[in-house]
Amino acid sequence: MLDNDHVKHIVGKEAEYLAFRELEKYPELGVAFAIKGVKGYHYEPTSGEANYAGIANEIGVKRESIVIPFQEHTATVAVYDDAVHEFKATDGLVTAKRGVTLCTKVADCISLLIYDPVHHAIGNIHSGWRGTLQKIALNGVRKMVEEFNSKPADLICVICPSIRQDHFEVDRDVYEEFRQTFPQIIEEITIQHGDKYNIDTVRCNAWMLEKAGVNTENIIDCGLCTVCHADLINSYRGNIDSQKQWRNLALIWLKD
Ligand SMILES: [Zn+2]
Repeated sequence: MLDNDHVKHIVGKEAEYLAFRELEKYPELGVAFAIKGVKGYHYEPTSGEANYAGIANEIGVKRESIVIPFQEHTATVAVYDDAVHEFKATDGLVTAKRGVTLCTKVADCISLLIYDPVHHAIGNIHSGWRGTLQKIALNGVRKMVEEFNSKPADLICVICPSIRQDHFEVDRDVYEEFRQTFPQIIEEITIQHGDKYNIDTVRCNAWMLEKAGVNTENIIDCGLCTVCHADLINSYRGNIDSQKQWRNLALIWLKD
């Protein structure tokens, strides 16, 4: 089981997911991170419709309320409202609409869930290492400010399970991109061994959020590495070849 100070591991009949303890005090908010679990649930592309219906039932949302953008490792964050319902080449969504379940699909990438309890708005950002380099986290906060008048100091952000520094090893070319993008912190937080570099993308995202004005205590890192927990969490690097396409779902919604 994956329970820790921030996370509760829920084993349902039709899906398994993680809930986040710090967010339970907000009655209007729903948050879930659907994982593989002991029964091997997975969501894309081979799982078909059944698993989506299963997690929807478990968390009490309508299947048709789940909105998934066509993620392409872009820095684009769009607003979900009545006008637009399909999102090509989009890696983040924000909304203030109730009854809409914003969803991102991830295996080792970070899903960043954002909640504004003052203006009653939410965001769901797919920030893999490519998205991190494009600073999509900043675009997510910016979009919340533009669309809903959010104040960064009010925002609560959850960093979902992702590949962590112990397992995110890259070559020098990728390290150099990180060094150019995050010169203030990257040398301090990177572990080098030989010609390989272990990069802490969680710290990069948290640093961006703090720069954008989010309070440190409102950045909740679940602390879970997808590769370390590949038995229970779908992981690209951590699973065998036939399971590399499997995804987890990060879900956030405002209840009706
Ligand atoms: Zn790990």
